[in-house]
Amino acid sequence: MSLSLIAKSIKPSPTLALNEKFAILKEKGDPVIHLGGGEPKTRVPMEAIMATVAHVNTGEVRYAPADGIPALKQAIIRYTEEFYDRKVTPQNIIASGGAKQALMVALMATLNPQEEVIFPAPYWVSYPDMARLIGAIPVPALPEDGTFYPRLKDIEDRVGSYTKAVIINSPNNPTGAMYSEEFISDVVQFCEKKDIWLIMDDIYHRLIFDGRKIINPLKYAKKQDENSKLIIVNGVSKQYAMTGFRIGWAVGNKKVIEAMSNIQGHQTSGPSVLLQKAAVGALNGIQSSVESLRVTLENNRNVMIGLLNSFEGVKVTKPDGTFYCFADFSVYNKSSNALSTFLIDKVQVLTVPGAEFGLEGYLRLSYCGTIKDIQDGIERMKWALDPNSPNELYIGDRKLVRDWS
Ligand code: PMP
Repeated sequence: MSLSLIAKSIKPSPTLALNEKFAILKEKGDPVIHLGGGEPKTRVPMEAIMATVAHVNTGEVRYAPADGIPALKQAIIRYTEEFYDRKVTPQNIIASGGAKQALMVALMATLNPQEEVIFPAPYWVSYPDMARLIGAIPVPALPEDGTFYPRLKDIEDRVGSYTKAVIINSPNNPTGAMYSEEFISDVVQFCEKKDIWLIMDDIYHRLIFDGRKIINPLKYAKKQDENSKLIIVNGVSKQYAMTGFRIGWAVGNKKVIEAMSNIQGHQTSGPSVLLQKAAVGALNGIQSSVESLRVTLENNRNVMIGLLNSFEGVKVTKPDGTFYCFADFSVYNKSSNALSTFLIDKVQVLTVPGAEFGLEGYLRLSYCGTIKDIQDGIERMKWALDPNSPNELYIGDRKLVRDWS
């Protein structure tokens, strides 16, 4: 079939494909455990639900402006003041269908085909394909020192005449690493000096642990005006457990936001007004759900790290934030895809292969589920991988028998 070059260059989203596999097994009644998830399971803030219901009850659900309804922009203005210490105007803001669309339209507004966008590796699975979708070239930057914490040199070394943008995601999906204040400050100043776009994907910025403080990249920007090429992306998906509401946003200079809005206007129009109202409810409501989610995740992280530390051969870096842990399982299998398939097939634990994030031999394990899932999931993985395990494992009244060595 004569599909386009772009269509042929795009892989299906591996995390979405895994979710489908999980749903099929669950439907069959299999006792699957999802350690691959990308969404907290806590309740959506009540204010978000009430705002949506109130609007739906008016019976007037119409088109929304392509760049977001005024009430959501006002809420984002407040958010930007609180977390970025910056007063912005409605023209500096676009509300999109999730942070994903905000990132996508930001890339479409700033990169030409064949131009390059650099991001530290391991990276969120969608960055490379988002770049390919517009014919641009993804350039992953794996830290040279073997850690999950890039240094400016890792970025600097990859900058050339085709470099147009850098994406930084901290704390990071999949490693949970929160980059140092020094690194963020270096990157902000470096991108300004080189006159390249810097897209900060801050979707996890409030979900940080061990008393860490949120880092504000704008604090280090020398260009505080409409010439700034710093774009901040955020959203309600993770911090308010509102993944299905599909509301994210970007804050940037007026020209780039206008370009992004024009693109989005032709692409999807504005996000549904119902969902924008929900986001307003969450942003303007009581914020205790965010702190309670953060505390739950920190506790879950501690449980997972404790279990992984006693897992022979597995090497793990303690995550500073998010709800992901990226652990080195290469001692068991050098191919993370093969290992992930083995684990779902043999013990029905879903993990995401590290290769999808740009680092082989690793698995991404999520701790946004229940403590029981974390404990049972890792116990099953240990049973499957440790050659000294007993021959049988009971899952409820099901008996699993090792038919591998
Ligand atoms: N950036 C990162 C790093 C993410 O992990 C995700 C979601 N997995 C997104 C962006 C997209 O978030 P949203 O649901 O708001 O589109």
